[in-house]
Amino acid sequence: MNKIDSIQRILFDDIDVRGVVTGLEQSYQDIISLHNYPGVIERILGEMLAAVSILSTNLKFNGKLILQAKGAGSVTALMAECNHLNECRAIAQFDGIIDDSLSFRQMLEDGYLVLTIDPEVGKRYQGIVPLENDSLADCLADYFQRSEQLNTQFILACDGVKARGLMLQVMPAAGSGSEDYRRLSMLARTLKDSELLSLDNETLLFRLFHEEKCRLFPAETLQFKCQCSRERSETALKLLSAKELRELVEELGSIDIDCQFCNSKYSFDRIDVEQICLQKLSK
Ligand SMILES: [Zn+2]
Repeated sequence: MNKIDSIQRILFDDIDVRGVVTGLEQSYQDIISLHNYPGVIERILGEMLAAVSILSTNLKFNGKLILQAKGAGSVTALMAECNHLNECRAIAQFDGIIDDSLSFRQMLEDGYLVLTIDPEVGKRYQGIVPLENDSLADCLADYFQRSEQLNTQFILACDGVKARGLMLQVMPAAGSGSEDYRRLSMLARTLKDSELLSLDNETLLFRLFHEEKCRLFPAETLQFKCQCSRERSETALKLLSAKELRELVEELGSIDIDCQFCNSKYSFDRIDVEQICLQKLSK
């Protein structure tokens, strides 16, 4: 398969439906290789990454889209994000051994899905829906039905090596009664996970929609890139008072900030802390 780490939009001629197909392989492996997650969590994070990369095509400004699932089950939080540069990252929080046969809804228990649009400039927007379907794909469809009244179909698959996703969404202008959407979405539902994971985008499009007039936009590259940095860690430390910072470094010897996404460590010793305190004073 060529160019798997990519997002590609699908254009249907004269039909008010938009489509996106995505794939992550190197980027997915870069992310999961940093952790030692159980297989079932690795696979659901793959689906989350596929979903969030698809949804990031909706960003109309510089910023990022964050997809979170939170719950009270053995898995307490799953998070995947993708920014306007198609840089993505993901993380999971869980307790104990996770049964490999659990569905998305079962592993989270009384869970909910949170979608956050986080622009670099301006206000955050957040939408929440309870998890009332077994799969992430169906929970996302439910999210768009409830929050935007838009019929949306997601097909997501991950085999632990790569993750793939396909989305079809009716355009707001077409409304919920779109016959075209119904036909395309029925065709999309015939796609097996094994096909989604093995076919390249052109073959996939032909396999599903050979009777439709549709085209693929040029592919955009997706990659794993963490947005953490020493500067960002410093900014976070500046939220504390000079007194608190000095007390912390006195007690601990150094203040260490660990990035949970990529395992990077940012360490600030007494001299660093004094510099931060001076910068706070000069502001
Ligand atoms: Zn990081």
